[in-house]
Amino acid sequence: MALKDIIKEIQQLNDADQLRLKDFFIKSIVSYSASGPIFKEISEQKHKDGYTCTHCHSTNAVRFGKYRIKAGAKVIERQRYRCKDCGKTFTDVTNTPLKGSHLPHKWLDFIHCMIEGYSLRKASELIGVHHVTLFYWRHKVLSALKQMEIDHFSGIVEMDETYFLYSEKGKRKITGRKARTRGGASRFRGISKEQVCVLVARDRQKQTYSKVLGQGRIVKSKLDQAIGSKVSVTNTLCTDAWRAFKAYAKEKGIEHYPFKSDGKERVKGLYHIQNVNNYHSRLKGWMNRFNGVATKYLDHYLSWFLFLDTIRFRNDSTTVSKMIVESCLYPTVATYGKLRLSTFKVS
Ligand SMILES: [Zn+2]
Repeated sequence: MALKDIIKEIQQLNDADQLRLKDFFIKSIVSYSASGPIFKEISEQKHKDGYTCTHCHSTNAVRFGKYRIKAGAKVIERQRYRCKDCGKTFTDVTNTPLKGSHLPHKWLDFIHCMIEGYSLRKASELIGVHHVTLFYWRHKVLSALKQMEIDHFSGIVEMDETYFLYSEKGKRKITGRKARTRGGASRFRGISKEQVCVLVARDRQKQTYSKVLGQGRIVKSKLDQAIGSKVSVTNTLCTDAWRAFKAYAKEKGIEHYPFKSDGKERVKGLYHIQNVNNYHSRLKGWMNRFNGVATKYLDHYLSWFLFLDTIRFRNDSTTVSKMIVESCLYPTVATYGKLRLSTFKVS
């Protein structure tokens, strides 16, 4: 059968069968062979200025023999390095989510599932790794992606906050109040300490900042901590009419266009906050699938969404490779114990 005939057949399948077929491809096509080029890419990016030490960042490192790992049924050889300054040895995956993993090919399948936004149970069924293990994989990747940050905004910056309910989901004993099930609703009207504030700032080149600022309303000092190093008098801020934004812009001497959320005037020429508000609704829509997330992991989910939004939810070998390579470029020391015990704090 020619490929074009197969495609024709597929087009005639109903939606459910097409989805099943897609799952089948995710399960069977991504293989060992795909992980080779990804490791090469990680290595080249890590050592773009010469062999660089993972521990002390000195470029005085040299190759130091190879080591073998078992990946499924195959044995793969990988490069080891030694730093002449600190004396320590390291590999391309030291302090990355892939450290110690004997299942690099499964990681690729898992990243496919992450881009698809599958639940841990569904991913577990597809790739045959226990869902609790996948929970840690997910958060190892996300704790690395969380560290990707833009340097500074350019031009017009739209900025607005949105709120998520404070949640201790996953914790066995909830203290101080009755547990909510499946997200639930706040006891209070309006913005209270039960709500967690997320700031989204986005310029017109779509460079985006999206992080948890803390519980309750935004205050000026938190705003400065969050974006102070990324904005300057060369920017123009478009925000809602909340006083912290006004006070902040005034103090920094930044041109500012406030828009009342119930106001009639939503656009002044080039100035508006519609891009950031659209981002909020895409984010909220995507988050719905998780039925509420633990506040201590909220930043992880924000980084996940930002990544997916940036690649426009495209799920192909290029974006899978991009996600895995980027998550290996930031040091992560997230261990099982640390992830489980981490409590909500704003850094
Ligand atoms: Zn070193």
